Amino acid sequence: MSDADVTRPDPASIAGHERLAAFGETIFAEMSALAARTGALNLGQGFPDTDGPAVVLEEAIAQIRGGRNQYSPGMGEPELVAAVVEHQRRWYGLDVSAPGQVMVTAGASEALAAAFLALLKPGDEVVMLEPYYDMYAALTSLAGGVRRTVPMRFPDFAIDEQVLRAAFSERTRLVILNTPHNPTGRVLTREEMELIASLAKEFDAVVVTDEVYEHLVFDDLEHIPMATLPGMAERTLTISSAGKTFSVTGWKIGWVTGPAELVRQVRSVKQFLSFVPPAPFQPAVAVGLGLDDAAFEQIRGGLQKQRDILVEGLRAAGLTASVPQAGYFVVADAAPLGAVDALDFCRTTLPATAGVVGVPVSGFCDDPDAARTLVRFAFSKRPEVLEEAARRLQSLGS
Ligand code: PMP
Ligand code: GLN
Repeated sequence: MSDADVTRPDPASIAGHERLAAFGETIFAEMSALAARTGALNLGQGFPDTDGPAVVLEEAIAQIRGGRNQYSPGMGEPELVAAVVEHQRRWYGLDVSAPGQVMVTAGASEALAAAFLALLKPGDEVVMLEPYYDMYAALTSLAGGVRRTVPMRFPDFAIDEQVLRAAFSERTRLVILNTPHNPTGRVLTREEMELIASLAKEFDAVVVTDEVYEHLVFDDLEHIPMATLPGMAERTLTISSAGKTFSVTGWKIGWVTGPAELVRQVRSVKQFLSFVPPAPFQPAVAVGLGLDDAAFEQIRGGLQKQRDILVEGLRAAGLTASVPQAGYFVVADAAPLGAVDALDFCRTTLPATAGVVGVPVSGFCDDPDAARTLVRFAFSKRPEVLEEAARRLQSLGS
């Protein structure tokens, strides 16, 4: 029986906290708390342990000192709106320069929340790849929607065309598409993107894309925004954020771009969430987006080296590690070390024996069998930290 066939109470009769009761505390918060409690190396929650470009940080400091400390305009500080317009043109040839096509948000998270709440009616279906970023499932439930998952299987995480097609129906309202993908590190191919685009058109769905890892793509692969595909700009809301690219996850500056009417609908909700995001960080992120190609290459190249250290360390320790094509994370199978349940392994064996914290991929899945022994590790850490993690992981095999 599919998720959509289950008889559920009318979401309109359930309070928001009840709709989210099944989600509990996020797996990221639980695992960061575990790392803090045990002193283990935190390769769980995805955040860097170094600062990003100094000019970006300096600009924020200068803006605070210069008095940019009050509410922003509703669509965002003009420098950042202009920088996002230029960024979409420079990297993807996308034109979002018409009024109302760009809105700054409190991280990608707020853009996602506002989009789901703005666009979904109770009973609407949302198609998402599985594993999925936990927020997509929670927001679907909060909005009274129903998720339809498209499993991608370890280790190559390919998308099966028939399975994808079967997830769509006349009830499909949204596709939430995350590429580059968290947690698998996959960058979807043009063929996969075209297939999703054609299904979105056939079923008249809006595509919300989460592209927060757009600049962290390895091995000469290419990130293809959905909005660049023929006929898709008019039905796509593109979301990204500064946190991952510029190592400022605590700043919570994101943005959404797309057709002005869809952005307006998202804004109608967003204005009652954060109202507006923090002012002084916005011109600083504008400086970041304006950095030259060499600066983006340095960020990308550094992370790719960190990926290689961690993948090698995991393999040397006896885990089966997939090689991520992008992002902050590697997924590895702990079954060769005797693990039978990744949640249990992450809560006990991993911190106690190795002094390392990871996140069970089951936290991103509906199907308990899909990820039973899979663990996500973050490589957004200094090389020496990853080397120390690799040393510690050796103890798992002994
Ligand atoms: N989407 C994905 C796939 C993420 O990994 C994250 C975490 N950075 C977010 C959204 C949230 O981004 P932000 O911190 O900008 O809200
Ligand atoms: N995006 C981060 C991750 O995947 C976590 C953000 C959060 O804790 N919600 O680890």
